[in-house]
Amino acid sequence: MLSSHDERRCTFCKAGKTLRSSQTIAFRQFTDKGYIYCRATVPVDICNHCRSKSWDDVAEAIIGDAVRREYEKISLGRTEPRHAG
Ligand SMILES: [Zn+2]
Repeated sequence: MLSSHDERRCTFCKAGKTLRSSQTIAFRQFTDKGYIYCRATVPVDICNHCRSKSWDDVAEAIIGDAVRREYEKISLGRTEPRHAG
C-alpha cells in the first residue's frame, strides 16, 4: 500500500511532487578564517518533475553545525583550510 505521507506538491513547477531523501552536499562558507569547505548529509526534497531541490530548517541546522565544527577545527590549528581548485 502506497503512502503519500511524505509527498508534497512542488512549489517551483506546481506539477511535480517532492520526495524527501538524504543527500550529501558539499559547500563553502566564508568566515574570518577564510573559506571553509564542508560536506553534510541533509534531508532534501527533490521534485520528480523539474528536479528542483529544496531544504528546510532541519537541513539548515545541520549545515550550520557542520560549518561550526570545521571552523572550530581551523581555529584550533588542527587542519589547514583547503584551497579551491
Ligand atoms: Zn517541480
